[in-house]
Amino acid sequence: MLVLGISPFISSDPITVPMNIIMKLHIPSALFLLAACSVNPYKTTNKSYKQQARDYARIISQHPLTTGTDSVPAAPYWVGTVNFNLRKPNFVIIHHTAQNGCPQTLQTFTLTRTQVSAHYVICRDGTVHHMLNDYLRAWQAGVSKWGNITDVNSVSVGIELDNNGMEPFSDPQINSLLHLLTKLKTTYSIPTANFIGHGDIAPTRKNDPSSYFPWKQLADRGFGLWYGDTTGISVPDGFSSLTALRVIGYDIRDSSAAALAFKRHFEQDTLRSWGAQEEKILYTLYRAYE
Ligand SMILES: [Zn+2]
Repeated sequence: MLVLGISPFISSDPITVPMNIIMKLHIPSALFLLAACSVNPYKTTNKSYKQQARDYARIISQHPLTTGTDSVPAAPYWVGTVNFNLRKPNFVIIHHTAQNGCPQTLQTFTLTRTQVSAHYVICRDGTVHHMLNDYLRAWQAGVSKWGNITDVNSVSVGIELDNNGMEPFSDPQINSLLHLLTKLKTTYSIPTANFIGHGDIAPTRKNDPSSYFPWKQLADRGFGLWYGDTTGISVPDGFSSLTALRVIGYDIRDSSAAALAFKRHFEQDTLRSWGAQEEKILYTLYRAYE
């Protein structure tokens, strides 16, 4: 979910020109007009993106290295290693936008005052907007914690799904998401357990994606861990649900919030009170995470 609600709207719909007008024009003029129809309304902010990317490229290509010279005594000469590559995302964080349509979200992520962004925005019709290179750090997780990771933005790719939080997710949108997750998992070797929601990593602040989100469908495809039939499961005496939540990754400083986030994710139901079924599910998952 986004931090700020920004009033709509910049339309990203192409300008439509009646066909009878085009037919009256010479062909080259008509072609010109058709080309003009696809003018990108985000030309100005795209320029800013390119400039910022160039600035960061300049920083990482600096040599000799200038950072840390205050704390590290200067060596007689600089030696750069020849063995390196780019750091990769190791987690995927899934959100719902809680906004009114993709145009509003695209606008929110291109206004500097909002200070929020994501790598991908997936619209209800399945359109995927890739807004930031996966190697760069989006501002999507905010204050959050998973296990001992407190800077989730630095290790994750953020995906926003256009959804107001009170409705099911559309099939084209989930299909696009699954396609994208397949690419991300393969490209960056992201572990199955590391596909999680914003509500999982910020249980006191966030509740996205909502209970409508099909986590089991994702887990069936290898994105996130899941549990099987719990009928035969017997939870051992002394099992601590709080410790188990902690092992899975939840921030348990507010245990009720952590339990609620767990139910939202693994039962798609936040109204159930905690009982034997929740203990069984948690125990099964805890064993998978151990
Ligand atoms: Zn979110």
